[in-house]
Amino acid sequence: MSQRDAMKTTQSWHDKTCEQSLAELKTGTAGLDEIEAKQRLSNFGPNRLTEPARRHVLLRFLHHFHNILIYVLLIAAGITTLLDRLLNTFVIIAVVIINAIIGFLQEGKAETAMEAIRHMLALRAAVIRGGRRQTIVGEELVPGDIVLLEAGDKVPADLRLLTSHGLQIQESILTGESMAATKQTEPVAKGAPLGDRSSMAYSGTTVVSGQAMGVVVATGGETEIGRISVLLARVEMLTTPLVAKMEVFAKWLTLFILTLASLILLVGYFVLHQDFTDLFMAVVGLSVAAIPEGLPAVLTITLAMGVQIMARHNAIIRLLPAIETLGSISVICSDKTGTFTRNEMKVASVITSRNHFNVDGSGYEPAGDIRLEEQTVTIANHPALLDLGRTAALCNNAVLTRVAETWQVEGDPMEGALLAFAGKTGFDDHKAHIEWTCTDMIPFDAEHKFMATLNHDHKNKAAIFVKGAPEKVLTMCRKQGLSASETEPLDHDYWEEQAQFIASQGQRVLALAAKPMKPEHMVLAHADIEDSLIFLGLVGLMDPPRPEAIMAVAECHLASIEVKMITGDHAATAVAIGNQLGLRNTNRVLTGAELDTLDEATLAARVSKIGIFARTSPEHKLRLVMALQANGMTVAMTGDGVNDAPALKRADVGISMGKNGSEAAKEAAEIVLTDDNFASIVAAIREGRRVHDNIKKVINWTLPTNAAEALTIVLALMLGMTLPITPILILWVNTITAVTLGIALAFEPTEKKVMLRPPRPHGEPLLSGELLWHVALVASLFLIGVFGIFNYAIERGYSVNLARTIAMNTLVMLETFQLFFIRNMHVTSLSWKAVRGTKAVWIAVSTVILGQFAITYLPWLQMVFETEEIALLDLFLIIGIGALTFIAIEIEKQIRLRLYREFTLVGIFKKIYRKFSMM
Ligand code: ADP
Ligand code: MG
Repeated sequence: MSQRDAMKTTQSWHDKTCEQSLAELKTGTAGLDEIEAKQRLSNFGPNRLTEPARRHVLLRFLHHFHNILIYVLLIAAGITTLLDRLLNTFVIIAVVIINAIIGFLQEGKAETAMEAIRHMLALRAAVIRGGRRQTIVGEELVPGDIVLLEAGDKVPADLRLLTSHGLQIQESILTGESMAATKQTEPVAKGAPLGDRSSMAYSGTTVVSGQAMGVVVATGGETEIGRISVLLARVEMLTTPLVAKMEVFAKWLTLFILTLASLILLVGYFVLHQDFTDLFMAVVGLSVAAIPEGLPAVLTITLAMGVQIMARHNAIIRLLPAIETLGSISVICSDKTGTFTRNEMKVASVITSRNHFNVDGSGYEPAGDIRLEEQTVTIANHPALLDLGRTAALCNNAVLTRVAETWQVEGDPMEGALLAFAGKTGFDDHKAHIEWTCTDMIPFDAEHKFMATLNHDHKNKAAIFVKGAPEKVLTMCRKQGLSASETEPLDHDYWEEQAQFIASQGQRVLALAAKPMKPEHMVLAHADIEDSLIFLGLVGLMDPPRPEAIMAVAECHLASIEVKMITGDHAATAVAIGNQLGLRNTNRVLTGAELDTLDEATLAARVSKIGIFARTSPEHKLRLVMALQANGMTVAMTGDGVNDAPALKRADVGISMGKNGSEAAKEAAEIVLTDDNFASIVAAIREGRRVHDNIKKVINWTLPTNAAEALTIVLALMLGMTLPITPILILWVNTITAVTLGIALAFEPTEKKVMLRPPRPHGEPLLSGELLWHVALVASLFLIGVFGIFNYAIERGYSVNLARTIAMNTLVMLETFQLFFIRNMHVTSLSWKAVRGTKAVWIAVSTVILGQFAITYLPWLQMVFETEEIALLDLFLIIGIGALTFIAIEIEKQIRLRLYREFTLVGIFKKIYRKFSMM
């Protein structure tokens, strides 16, 4: 029997004891070693649910024919066959197929981009392997692995729990029960239903609170969730509100055009008795001309590119609509620790009841001097330091490991810093834990701001160790320690003063306390620590701001985006860091306790004037989001803990930390930052503005071209004259040249002034007056150009085919010039940078020029498209018309830009407002 079958025969684990489970899985609390883990991974396969089968390639390709315009074209192809115009049939079919291929390839590219991003969000798990705590990718878990759980985690596999401290798990995806289930480690009855198996933690469920350790009993498809195959298949659509609106618009436009086309056909044939073939072809031409069929594909690519670029800037978009919302963010509320700061903590000062020590050393190395008034101290002479060191080492969940000369933290960086400090007092974390085993604990949570452990040593002694925010710990103490055994009454004011002193230097303050216990005391309850602890001292932790965050804050201010700091830290620490970052209104701080006294209306009235919120708990974040939204602001909010989820969901853009964030926060967020860095938020906003600009550019570029083509046909039909462009040529222009040129806009770089503009108003209408005016203006200019040159050619005595060739080339030339115009929608196009363009633009333009030469001069294409070669002089004329039109719209833009900037009322008010808000 293979190892796999041997372990599979046991179907239930909840009724086994911890020891039985470990024995059956051939493992122990030190975990598997790496070789065994590898071996098991190849036996059991990766810990992954089977992905839903993707649609067959062929089906996905065929899907690109499922489009009303394609149906129109296919019908047209059928009719041209009947009418014996086989060349036309051939062109139409060719275009339909090329169109489908382009769409298919683009979809593939967009999907690859999204796939890569989903990969970056892969679940990670904290395990113990070979006696060492480490973080691995969830897919590498195997039965027998020892997994550590804490609040906010997603359980990575089915676990039999070995230890549990206040563990509560939300299991609704398995049981439908929305209340969190309380877990423990004793076996339960064999027949217990899933919801009652309190000794188990199941894959895919979420830890709401507490801490635990468990052994993996099933992975991948063998887990409960794998078996009932609740496939959490997230079908991510590449769409955003704007694109969705655009698609709806395109649908209605299509319907309108098709109705109009049928009317023209009916009236022309039955009333005006025109030739059916010509009329039919004109009507098909009209449909092709007016329906922006390339638009959705180009928009999708623009979005996919944006998602990809943001990922490169460490911001992963989980929900696409966020890309758009990013551009209208008017306030960012950000955590301090780790987001504004580096989260590379270091204990810098230590205050006991008598002395103020400074701590040396670099990084997390657990060695270095402790100094008192510039003199290095001998630890043995300062028993108070020993007590602090022991507490720092024991009331701690982190592990320091040495990787190639540098010391690294597994777990909370602040706890890592405490371990490094403990090392300097002579307490190796390992040694301390061997002497004192942890029997029970109350894990840290952001609401209560402390953590406590109960430890027993081998000499029958027991003690409680506590660390936490000074205000909180002070309430738990009556006495303060002098040395290991001497105590005196607590001097509350002294400690408050000292805490204020450390905090005002920008250091995070933490208080340490302890209390001896009777050895038979095995369970830690809140009552044990209520008011009987001995206060040992304060430590000050340095965590400097990230230099790039300082730049990013300045950039936000230029872009009229407010930045607010929300932190669980001491107000004085927050203010010091806020000033270093260059935040505004740092002199107005609101603490969580003050916030609790304000009602919704007062909070909404005051919120915008406050720069820093200190000593907050997660639920305050939700109130802040709502208060800011009540002021009409578009709010981005960061978060990492499980309790931050509601605020992240409520914010317009919820941002979660990728490194130190919990799974629960990630799932509630629209964006996940892979580097936890504030600067990445700003980079994402910049990119969001760019994507939105580019989407607008694509729309602004496509619609006038379509309108002009449609108007050309309608006008010609109304005047009863020959069509200046044949439907087949329009098909060429719209599907080949338009898509090629349009794609170039997806690659447009950020406009230089993109972060000098105020945020885009929320819910700004898509079809704005500006856009309509632009469509009307450009479409009329195009119409004049195409009609003008066609009539000129006819008057010169050219053949109709030559005149049409010239008209078609003029249209493409106009499109190309308009591309250069659109590229700089907000600034002048008359600069070297604007002319130089991007690689994508030049690739697109060269391709289009080559294509135009081919269709105009290659004999077999001439035959297919009924074109004729153009004389050199006429070529210059075409370029001239393009340039002239370009100059006309550019002059119009310059006038409009200047008018808008200087003379609109809104502009003036904005200026005045900004002047005031700077004061
Ligand atoms: P932030 O918003 O800066 O991330 P936190 O909510 O993480 O703040 O922490 C708030 C306060 O709680 C800290 O100032 C510190 O006093 C205390 N604290 C933070 N982490 C721990 C921990 N692991 N154990 C005990 N106390 C902690
Ligand atoms: Mg924190």
